Parts: sequence; C-alpha cells; structure tokens
Amino acid sequence: MSDCIFCKIISGEIPSKKLYEDDLCYAFYDIAPQSDVHFLVVPKEHISCAKEINGGNSSVISHIFEVIARLASELKLDSYRIINNCGEGAGQTVMHLHFHVLSGKNLGERLI
Ligand code: 5GP
Ligand code: ZN
Repeated sequence: MSDCIFCKIISGEIPSKKLYEDDLCYAFYDIAPQSDVHFLVVPKEHISCAKEINGGNSSVISHIFEVIARLASELKLDSYRIINNCGEGAGQTVMHLHFHVLSGKNLGERLI
C-alpha cells in the first residue's frame, strides 16, 4: 500500500533496524522502544488490522507466532509480552497489522 509506513519499511524505502525477514513477514526494532527489548513483526502483505484476518490470510498469523518464538529464543528472552492494538480506540497508530514483542526489566504493569 503506497502510503503505509510499514509497507515502506518492508520494501526498504524507509530504513529500519531489521531483525528478521522471510517471504511472509518482516521483524524490526521499534523506533520508540517501550521496554529494554521492543520489536515489531508484520506480515509482508498489507493487512490493515486484526479485523481483516480471515480464512484467506490467517496462515501468516501462525507463521508470525512461530517466528516470534524463534526470535525470542535467539535473543534469549526469558519472558516477553506480545501485543496487538486493533483500531484507533485501542491505540493502533499504524494501520498495518503488527505484533509488538516487549521484554526486559522495565516491562510495565500488565494490562489484563
Ligand atoms: P501501534 O501504536 O500502532 O500499536 O504501534 C505502532 C508502533 O510503530 C509504535 O510503537 C511506533 O513507535 C512504531 N513506529 C512508528 N513509525 C515507525 C518507524 O518509522 N520505524 C519504526 N521502527 N517503528 C515505527
Ligand atoms: Zn502496509
């Protein structure tokens, strides 16, 4: 999608600190980290938010969770929090589906 920041990051048009990439997803460190370790994992296909997940595109979600488990293991993250904000009212600011992975001593209060 031409005016999407994360599509531009995936294509390399906007630079990012890349952690991992394959045919289906892209992982990179958040520009404004909220904890010691804070990275994002996004599908390469532009899916605007979790509301748009359906039978035709949902396989990328399980793939992303496999990738998160692998990256967390490689980064030796003992425990971590995975967050998805869906919709502006829930705090979503970039309308390209993404999963935050947060870890570290300064991980804040649990939300739920
Ligand atoms: P949301 O608020 O939509 O759940 O999360 C969007 C996240 O994207 C925020 O944590 C924000 O810091 C991050 N972000 C926004 N623009 C950029 C960017 O250009 N580069 C990187 N690496 N992260 C970004
Ligand atoms: Zn996009």
